[in-house]
Amino acid sequence: MTPDFRRTKIIFTLGPATESEEMLEALIQAGVDIARLNMAHATHEWTRTMIRRIRKVSAKVGRDIAILMDIKGPEIRTGDVSAPLELKAGEVFDFTVKPGADRENAEEVRSVDVNYRDLVNDIRVGDTVLVDNGLITLEVLEKHNAHIRCRVLIPGELKSRRHINLPGVKVNLPSLTEKDKGDATVGLEEGLDFIALSFVRSAADIAELRTWLEEKKSKVRVIAKVEDQSGITNLDAIVQASDGLMIARGDLGIECPFEELPIIQRRAVRACLAQSRPVIVATHMLESMISQPMPTRAEITDVANAVYELADCVMLSGETTIGKYPLECVQILDKIAKRIEIEDDTEIREVAVFTGERMKVLHSAVVLANEIPHSKILTFTRHGFMAHGLAALRPVHSPILTFTPHAQLLRQLRLLRAVEPFQMPFATEPDATIENASALLKERGRIVPGDKLIIATDILSQDRLVDSVQLRTVR
Ligand code: PGA
Ligand code: MN
Repeated sequence: MTPDFRRTKIIFTLGPATESEEMLEALIQAGVDIARLNMAHATHEWTRTMIRRIRKVSAKVGRDIAILMDIKGPEIRTGDVSAPLELKAGEVFDFTVKPGADRENAEEVRSVDVNYRDLVNDIRVGDTVLVDNGLITLEVLEKHNAHIRCRVLIPGELKSRRHINLPGVKVNLPSLTEKDKGDATVGLEEGLDFIALSFVRSAADIAELRTWLEEKKSKVRVIAKVEDQSGITNLDAIVQASDGLMIARGDLGIECPFEELPIIQRRAVRACLAQSRPVIVATHMLESMISQPMPTRAEITDVANAVYELADCVMLSGETTIGKYPLECVQILDKIAKRIEIEDDTEIREVAVFTGERMKVLHSAVVLANEIPHSKILTFTRHGFMAHGLAALRPVHSPILTFTPHAQLLRQLRLLRAVEPFQMPFATEPDATIENASALLKERGRIVPGDKLIIATDILSQDRLVDSVQLRTVR
């Protein structure tokens, strides 16, 4: 029997296939937790319309999902082409960094502009240029003042605004661009919950974004996307500096030797668990479902693997932006996750080891929950601290029923594995808050008489708040 409750959370990327109100409603009903806006393809007007639409449909369904804006950071892209260019094997082709600058044989050699002005300085002759996730591969033949001349090794069709990878090149672009700031400003005005910064190379990149967010007095949470070798080299410090990590396998699989990818994924999930940070496994989870109604066996196993690894979230990209089966993708993730989550209860968990006393109290709550079959953890949080701590300890079977008075925090809690958030104002007496929460959970059928609740919360004892773990049977 598979349970109603899914511990692994689902992020979907919004696009033409999912932006209608009807589809959003179906997706929220089907249990998506977070909507992602990919700013590589978004205008500000679309962004505003979409954020408002998601809020409206969430309110209608009665389930408030979070919104994550993915800003592109130092991502290299080609400019616009009026019509797709068919690049042939062996063809000589230029990437220009100053539109209109002089080139030798400009009549014969075709070209496209790139947004990376230092390309000509930072690249070496013999380096590889990968376009559109490696669909087109070129080798650098010559460097000039305002362009590089390349030879096409793997041919393909070059469309507008394609993503470029330069494996092994230390890309000297600012981590937070003016475009990012413009995009994020729109998001903040519309009440965004998360910002994911692309191509985070060091903890300093996250610090820069945080400084900017502090100036804006924003409570948005920051997700670091690790996508290249520098991100992996500085992984632990990046995890420490962020509110969560995205393992961006699309770019990682190009920037690093592909056989390293499963090792990187495993290491990154563990680094997050050890530091009590949520972690997202992203890209190509159900890639074949962009055009097919059923996943491949390999995809099913890949999703299962992320669940076995105890990731907080799995993410859909092309599957839900341009795919033919966005709703089916969510249903399939839901089904695989629920089934695998029952299996993993014998796994040895390498979870967070906490040194702080307060966190040790949370640890004892999770130990107790693991000991008692069918127990549910109940907690209360104003800043998310309790929920983050409990989620990081990865209780084996218990959901973490989390109450908060704040709407934005409720949405942000949707990122955390096993956390089921509820919004409710807190009473002045902690005990009254527990009673109110129990009443709400009973009303919603989430707990029934006889259920065991492990409550991790503050209680008032002789005029001071003390941390407590309680075991109560629902009456
Ligand atoms: P992207 O990031 O979809 O923004 O490129 C995810 C990835 O690279 O996997
Ligand atoms: Mn990427």
